[in-house]
Amino acid sequence: MQTTTNAANTDFPIAIIGAGFAGIGMAIQLKKAGIGSFTMFERAGEIGGTWRDNTYPGAACDVPSHVYSFSFEQKSDWSRAFAESSEIQAYLLGVVDKWRLRPHMRFNTEIVEARFDEGRGLWTLTTDHGEQFTARVVISGVGGLVDPATPQINGLENFRGAQFHTARWNHQYDLRDKRVAVIGTGASAVQVVPSIAPIVGTLSVFQRTAAWVMPKHDKQYADSTKRFLGRHRAVLNLSRLLKYWVSEAFGPMVFLDSKSLSAIGEKVSLQHLRACVKNPELRAKLTPTFQFGCKRVLISDDYWPAFERPNVELITEAIDEVLSDRIRTTDGVEHRVDAIILATGFKLGLTKAPFPVIGRGAKTLDDAWKGGAVAYKGMTISGFPNWFILMGPNTGPGHTSVLVYTEAQIAYAVQAIKKLIGEKLKFVDVKQEVQDRYNDGLQRRMKYMSWSSGCHSWYLSPDGSNHALFPGFASEYVVRARKFKASEYEIVKA
Ligand code: NAP
Repeated sequence: MQTTTNAANTDFPIAIIGAGFAGIGMAIQLKKAGIGSFTMFERAGEIGGTWRDNTYPGAACDVPSHVYSFSFEQKSDWSRAFAESSEIQAYLLGVVDKWRLRPHMRFNTEIVEARFDEGRGLWTLTTDHGEQFTARVVISGVGGLVDPATPQINGLENFRGAQFHTARWNHQYDLRDKRVAVIGTGASAVQVVPSIAPIVGTLSVFQRTAAWVMPKHDKQYADSTKRFLGRHRAVLNLSRLLKYWVSEAFGPMVFLDSKSLSAIGEKVSLQHLRACVKNPELRAKLTPTFQFGCKRVLISDDYWPAFERPNVELITEAIDEVLSDRIRTTDGVEHRVDAIILATGFKLGLTKAPFPVIGRGAKTLDDAWKGGAVAYKGMTISGFPNWFILMGPNTGPGHTSVLVYTEAQIAYAVQAIKKLIGEKLKFVDVKQEVQDRYNDGLQRRMKYMSWSSGCHSWYLSPDGSNHALFPGFASEYVVRARKFKASEYEIVKA
């Protein structure tokens, strides 16, 4: 990495923005390829992204840990099938130390602008401290679900009790015996509700939309299993592969807009609901009214049973207003609470540029993404040469581990970087027609997907289009992203 005042310390400076799973994986693969001239910019004071930020009680992965970890850094001794947030963060910390990535990192450094100089084929990155760095290649690993969304609820700012978001948990606040409200019933809520229910005084869960919940079948691994997997890496690989293919096999039930396939998921979920909740009125309130897969399918064994506890109440009337010490619902009932926990999700980071990005001809990424975020294979954007996105537009899965996609993207970027270095190129810029053809194809398939079946979710942009998920199997994406094809790019020599 070069500062603009000191432009001679390395011959091929690469900037990685973000030190979460994506950025860390990228850094490791660069090192493996013998490319050490990279700097990682992280706006927080530690690595980890999602797993650094989400420390709420019960925070855990809802994808089996053997799949939700790097294929090239497998861990044989996960404590359970679905590891908790702290264990995933510990895994990432271990990986970072093992690969000696810390010397490459600049913490507490937020990139606030990126500008491409076509003449030199270099990006200039400006930080929040006003420093400038130049890089030949930029890898954006900033993540999509990062910044907490504060809901538009009347009077929320007038509440005088404790109030915090699941992704910014206030560990100083003692929930014991308090009257607590949780707003939201998504993937975060299904983990936090059963975890805090036994300790709070009362828990009022404000549900706007009931969610489809599947059995989780979580389990602790015995020490003997961990030792066995540690000694037999082939079995570890096989078990990972098996879990991956099981998730792929169930994929169509989740992502296809097929009444018969959804019916299978709905049947299993409703059986689970009947097993968890005896009260038919409560069951009716917890029963979703939209098609399975349209929103993210949740998995939990203890979320629905939590509502059978005498201190837990499900509130389905809409919130009318929040007052200084209570929440009033539209039926006029006032719910006095000491604390409000917002389990209301994230501002989707994929619909606009994370910060001003100015490409060729002074075109901005916001302009390029006016009609929704698009990129070729979710990674490269015409007019923004040598810029690679990890976990970019239309690369999210609803049915399996996002890391399968991320690893494919990392491998693709490494191929491109090797070409740039090997052939001393100034830049590669994906051709507009190649990008358009790819995205037109994806968007044509969206109408066959479950998330287009008529519900509201973070998957969809306000105009109803989907720029978040990949419409198909992870394996298809991996195959399509396998090879960096120079013919699809404008290649500019130095
Ligand atoms: P989410 O899925 O977006 O859920 C937000 C919840 O808040 C929804 O129930 C939503 O209701 C509700 N809500 C939002 N605004 C509201 C308002 N004004 N009034 C009342 N309710 C409101 O957010 P999340 O649960 O944090 O999950 C987001 C994503 O993060 C997940 O889909 C998943 O990809 C990821 N995640 C993963 C894990 C994991 O285990 N791997 C865990 C947590 C999160 P509506 O449904 O009516 O909109």
